[in-house]
Amino acid sequence: NREIHLVKRPEATPTHEHLNIVEQSNPKPEEGEVLLRTLYVSVDPYMRGRMSDAKSYIEPFQLNEPISGGAIAQVTESRSEQFNQGDIVTGALEWKEYSVADEKSLRKVDPSLGPVTTSLGILGMPGLTAYFGLIDIGAPKEGETLVVSGAAGAVGSAVVQIGKIYGCRVVGIAGTKEKTRYLTDELGVDVVINYKNENVAQALEEACPNGVDVYFDNVGGDISDSVYPLLNKFARIVQCGAISSYNTPNDQGPRIHMQLIKSSALVKGFTVGDYQERFSEGFQHLSKWLQEGKLTYEETIVEGFDQIPDAFFGLFKGENLGKQLVKVADP
Ligand code: NDP
Repeated sequence: NREIHLVKRPEATPTHEHLNIVEQSNPKPEEGEVLLRTLYVSVDPYMRGRMSDAKSYIEPFQLNEPISGGAIAQVTESRSEQFNQGDIVTGALEWKEYSVADEKSLRKVDPSLGPVTTSLGILGMPGLTAYFGLIDIGAPKEGETLVVSGAAGAVGSAVVQIGKIYGCRVVGIAGTKEKTRYLTDELGVDVVINYKNENVAQALEEACPNGVDVYFDNVGGDISDSVYPLLNKFARIVQCGAISSYNTPNDQGPRIHMQLIKSSALVKGFTVGDYQERFSEGFQHLSKWLQEGKLTYEETIVEGFDQIPDAFFGLFKGENLGKQLVKVADP
């Protein structure tokens, strides 16, 4: 049974020196617990924050302990009345091939509703983040201009589509040709800017002739600095992520106070957990749009437990289109 430990806290970009694969014996479930075989692991940008011991909204990972996060697993032994052997479940699990979990920490995944992987993507944490961030904070209205950074990732690709459902003119920003093609040709995004080979400020000005009403920000940094001057009166900035600075914590940018005052813009940060009590509402909307064909999704799935670290590092290099997952075993 292999597991992946955090062995050193990264100061900048995480690499193999920070994560170790360790062999351990198989754990045994106690009363009220189940033994799980991991099927899919989700790698997520927020995990970078938990590798640091700085105070945050969530506890840091402990050194020489397994990393944990969203995963899908199959029950191989049950000492719980709620779960049977063979059930597919999801929850926050440790990065282990086999793990023991308390029955209260798990939720059953119904494989008849669609591919089980969607519970880590479009029908899971990233989909809910897109939904609540855009609807609750962004409050998009028909005809408004919505700009989305990190547009081809798990959250961003859902945000651009929900923006279209709400009748917005949608401008996406992403970092590869494949991503810009996907966003325009498959998701119907009106204009896509490749921030790696275009002058973002100039391209944004051209793409947003009527200014920006909603900015859904996944990346922060230079890209966001180019959006602020275009904010319309009463614009809303949904501060979802700031991945461009996760590995450069001392990153500094221009001052934006005057731009906020001039535009009377609202900036609101959030974590999806703020909406826990409304998750079923989000889930219902997302599933309905999926069924109606108004919402689609992409997953980038690499195979092999030992590929988890590289899949995680790949998020910071833009290797994923849509949700990045690692397949560890077949059900
Ligand atoms: P993604 O699937 O979007 O993966 C990360 C993407 O970020 C990469 O594919 C890459 O795409 C882009 N990226 C990486 N480094 C940079 C950089 N320096 N500058 C610009 N873009 C970069 O991840 P998620 O959809 O899971 O998450 C998106 C954002 O939302 C993250 O910032 C994350 O932390 C945040 N988040 C916040 C939540 C909340 O509750 N507030 C919940 C979930 C996510 P490219 O090729 O375009 O560079």
